[in-house]
Order: sequence, then structure tokens, then C-alpha cells
Amino acid sequence: MLSSPDRFRVSYFCDLCAVRDWGLATLATLQITSFPSQVRVEEFLSISGTSQDLAGQPLTLVIDNQFQMGAGAVPSNGLWSFRFRFTSPGSRSLVILAQDQQGNGVRSQTIAITVVNATPPPLQITALPAQVRISENFTFRGIAQGLDNRPLTLIVDDQYRFTLGNIPVGGNWGAQFRLTSPGNRKLVVSATNSQGTALNSPAVNLLVTDTPLPQIAINTFPAQVAVRQEFVISGTASGLAGQPVTLTIDNQFKTTAGMVAANGTWQSVFQFLQPGMRRLTASVENLANPVISNTVTITVAGVSPRLLITPPDQPIYAETEFELAGEARNFADGEQLVIQADRKYILGRPIVQNQRWRSQLFFYQPGQRLIEVIASDQEKAQIELTIQATPSSLQIFPRSIWSSTTTSEGIPDLLNPKRITLHHTVIALLPTTATQAQEIQRMRQILDIHLNSSGYSDIGYHYIIMPSGRIYEGRNSRKRGAHDLVNDGVGVAVDGDFQGSLRIGAQQYEAVVGLCTLLCKRLGISDPVTPVSTITADFGTRSLARILGHRDRVITACPGTLADRLAGIRQEVKQRLS
Ligand SMILES: [Zn+2]
Repeated sequence: MLSSPDRFRVSYFCDLCAVRDWGLATLATLQITSFPSQVRVEEFLSISGTSQDLAGQPLTLVIDNQFQMGAGAVPSNGLWSFRFRFTSPGSRSLVILAQDQQGNGVRSQTIAITVVNATPPPLQITALPAQVRISENFTFRGIAQGLDNRPLTLIVDDQYRFTLGNIPVGGNWGAQFRLTSPGNRKLVVSATNSQGTALNSPAVNLLVTDTPLPQIAINTFPAQVAVRQEFVISGTASGLAGQPVTLTIDNQFKTTAGMVAANGTWQSVFQFLQPGMRRLTASVENLANPVISNTVTITVAGVSPRLLITPPDQPIYAETEFELAGEARNFADGEQLVIQADRKYILGRPIVQNQRWRSQLFFYQPGQRLIEVIASDQEKAQIELTIQATPSSLQIFPRSIWSSTTTSEGIPDLLNPKRITLHHTVIALLPTTATQAQEIQRMRQILDIHLNSSGYSDIGYHYIIMPSGRIYEGRNSRKRGAHDLVNDGVGVAVDGDFQGSLRIGAQQYEAVVGLCTLLCKRLGISDPVTPVSTITADFGTRSLARILGHRDRVITACPGTLADRLAGIRQEVKQRLS
């Protein structure tokens, strides 16, 4: 039973986490596309370029392999630029470094710039923002010598001329301007001296971007809650998918509030322990410029409420019935409550029993719903629910999409499989917005690890589920896998490293449930919940459900926090099978 050639090699895979330390391929690129070959000492110098998969990452400029300086962060459109100046003459080599989200190093090509000694130009732009948005007013400044009271002209892209007013006495000029189309714009200021000679400043580049700045907002929150009452605070965030949200209370206390979902929403369940007025803001802080929301005020009442709603711990889907329940403290058995949606539609009239209420609810359409449980005008509880669209179908991609290889016919057949083992890949999570090209790269990375470090004869898992919810076929499902030592079932791996506090996202979770449901149908598993006597590698014979985790059969941490969701996955699969 354990004579598979993969027997010993498998045992090292999930426990050692060696995959973390491998030099992994990256799709990120960094290219310098514009720079001057020669500048004067103290002259402003603009360097700009392109990048891929580095949005938000800091850039480091390395001069002559010796000096390093920060060069700003890559904007979301990947087009970066920055300026600086040299303080001494000579020949300089420059290279720009960055790291992608997974920590892989990326470097640009090396460029050479000659710095020459020269008298400063009579007219210069000395201060300009690195980057502006379309139609955003920006201020820029400069110096002029011998040009007091002369009119100053701005020349954009060698074509458009704008009058900026007269140069003040002393020569320190400043102006405000706005640009109305995106791109890398060339700015020159010009003035005519008293002899009638036109003098131009050296050109500087300004990146004008049409990418909206990231934003976060609090949209839904209760005006009043009771001490220790759980409530939902939620909102929207643009340009911040996958970023952690921080809630700040009274400008003093900070707490984490989940992640911005791929659809640009975030939500958090929260409670206060003390009465009073509380001011809350939401923010995303691990950015060069933190993004902060509107401020909302919530009154926390000292009296604990009698009516409570338990926030659902599973995603809610349109066209799928679910149970909403809560407490009705000190209500008599038989008292009737009303459940109302969006202050309009009555959804149910639950009857209190044992100081609790419960109601089966059903929504036809996805979206946000304000749900209230009402005993009287004065006594109600509310919660905001997010109803998700029902996934139309599973997206399962064949192995041929990511590999030209196939599973060797020499691997033994998988005979009469009757269980599904869940794993995590122990590789840092891709974003839910990852492209399929990135996911294909990830599949090749997993195959490479399994072939060259784990020593398997093929990728170990039968299916891999990406954070986007897309599913990729791994080892041919007719062949025994290399994933839980016994290898008598189907191995399904969820991409990501769930050893820490990371929790599975909604799309990936839905794909796990969908794939397990499909596999149960294929394998003839009608009951994924009830434990049955099961052979394990490290624990003898155990009573285990037919959907199980790697750790149920082998001494390993795999699949990390996903193990906490197994009971819910089994229940949901069972429900979908019935
Ligand atoms: Zn595992």
C-alpha cells in the first residue's frame, strides 16, 4: 500500500515548506525607456520606464554599484518615472531594482550617464511633482538669473505654449498648471532676456496618469449599537483589491478589518466593549501614501440589546436558501418577529423558541441587502448581507493549457477512489485578480518543485485551485497521485500558504465546494460527511469523512487554516449533492 515510488519523497513536501526558499521564476519586468546620456552637475535628470507586475512596489536606484536611493513606487499602470541630480562630474552607471509581490528580485538594464561640469543654465525648473493626474492642478517652481520681470512661458511637448506671468524680482518663480491628457509630457520654461534672446530651461518629464487614485469608503454601518453587539461595517475600495483594511477608532486604536475583495468591497464584523460615541475610519496603510476613508460616528449604548443577529460565517449565494439566526433574550416562547429586507420587503416571521429565532431566507438576486429583525419600532437588530452571484459553472482547465507533458503511463492506476484529500500548495498566494498567464506560470512552478525538489515523477496533485477560483488539472486523475502517502484518493490542492493566519477567499472556497461536489458525483460518493473507517499513513486506522485534509492521515500541518473549513465544505457539498 505504501510502496509507491513517491512514498518517502511525499513526506517531505508539505512539512518542510522548502518551496518557500526556492528561486522562483517571476513574470515581473522592469525596463528603463527614457534617460539623458549627458547632464550637468546639479541639473535635474528624469528617468522613466515601464514595468509589469510591479504595481505598488518600491524602486531602488543603484549608482555605480555603490550608492542606493529610493526611487518611489510603481504606479498601478506600471509606468514609473523619477528625478534626481548628480552633485559631482564623472561617468555613472545606473540600474533600478525592485521586488515583485512574492519577493523575487527584478532589475532593469544598466544605463550610463555622463555628468559634466557646467555653469548653471539661466533658467531652470527645480521642483515638480513626480506624477500628476489628468486635470489635477500642480505647482512647479524654478530659478531664473537676469530675467527679473520678464514674462515666463511654459512649453509642453515642444508644441504648446502657455503664459505663466512675469518672473519676480530675485528670480525665484512658481506657477500652477494642469494637463488634460495622459502620458509622459516634456516641460520647458522659456523667457526672453532684455537683449531679445530667448532662453529655454532644460526639459523635465512629468508623468500624467489617467489611473484613478485608490479610494476607500465606509458605506454601511449602524448608527447605534449596544455594548458587545456584533455589527457589520462595510464599504467599497477602488484600486485596492487584496489589500488589508485597517479600522481606526477615535484616531487612537487600530484593528485589522479583512481584505478588499476582488470586486472592490470590504467588510468587517466588529463590536465595542464600552459605551460612548465612537468615530471610525477605514484605511489601507501598507502603501507609500496610505488611503483613508470618510469618518463615521457610531453611538454605543450601554444597555445590551435583547435582539441579536448572528453574522453568517459562510458566503451567501443568490438562488440558494440559507439560514439566518440570532438571539431573542428574555423573549417568551411563541413571540413573533418580523424579518425585513431593505426596509421594504417582509421575508419571514420567525417564532421565538428558547430565546432564539431562526429563519430560512432566499434571494433571487446578488447584491447588498439590509436585513432587520424587528420586534417593535423600538426594538430591532440589523445586519448588512452580501449576496453573491451563483457561480454559473466551474472553470476547470486541462493540463494541456499549462504543460506540453502528460502523466506517465508507468504510474500505477488510481483504483476505485472513494475520498478527496485537500492540501495547500504552501506557496505565497497569487492575487484573486491574477491573470491566467500568472496561474499557468504557477502551475509550471509547482510541477518544477515536484519534479526537481520533491523528486516525484509528475505533479503530485490531481487538481489545483487558484485564488481566482479557476481550477487546473494536475496529474491525470486516472493515475495515483503523490500527495498524502496513502494516495488512494483524489488530491486537490488549494494554491496558497495557509500555515499562518491566511484564510481562504470566497472565490477559492466556492471552487473547492464546486469541485468536491463534482468529484463526489464522479466517484459515487453520496455522503461526504459521515466518517468511515479509513487507513492512514501515520495514525493507523481512523474514522474519517470522505472529504478530508492531508493532516488527517499524515503528521503534517497541511492544509493549514483550510482544515477549519472542512466541516463546512462537507456540509455544503452534501447539500448540493442532495
Ligand atoms: Zn498536503
